[in-house]
Amino acid sequence: KGDPRLQAISEAIRVIPHFPKTGIMFQDITTLLLNHKAFKDTVDIFIDRFRDMDISVVAGIEARGFMFGPSIALAIGAKFVPLRKPRKLPGEVISEAYELEYGTDCLEMHVGAVVPGERAVIIDDLVATGGTLSAATRLLERMGAEVVECACVIGLPEVKGQRRLNGKPLYILVEPR
Ligand code: AMP
Repeated sequence: KGDPRLQAISEAIRVIPHFPKTGIMFQDITTLLLNHKAFKDTVDIFIDRFRDMDISVVAGIEARGFMFGPSIALAIGAKFVPLRKPRKLPGEVISEAYELEYGTDCLEMHVGAVVPGERAVIIDDLVATGGTLSAATRLLERMGAEVVECACVIGLPEVKGQRRLNGKPLYILVEPR
């Protein structure tokens, strides 16, 4: 893509090799948050994309989806729905498990956070296998929402190449460096 802002966004993301374990190239978006222009450009690109798509729900995935999702929701006039790790949400929840490299994890959403027919986008910092975004999509769809798109700041090349996730459009700003 020819957007000149993307280069600076990519460069603002710090790469930390072997975190949290050997072989992982960790994409650290906290350095993007320290750079006001790159942070604002990131959020603005998502806002420009979603503002005219009739979106009423921005769902953010704990924890790094929480750092981008609320700003987008406020700007486009949507609600923000946190999708959380197990046993964090106090009300009645629905849960979806997903595969990790070792074992499984789980995301939860409050019952009643969305109503059937609402149009949603899901935000996270990074998509690797897509397992996390798939679980998030299932949560929203079980509550009757339509997941219009999943969006991440960073996408691994394999995932970016296919540009879809279980048939859902996937919107990605940059690849890992
Ligand atoms: P996946 O479910 O395989 O698509 O993994 C995506 C989730 O794992 C996101 O919530 C990311 O924050 C996190 N994640 C996976 N790989 C990395 C990485 N190399 N750097 C930072 N976060 C990662």
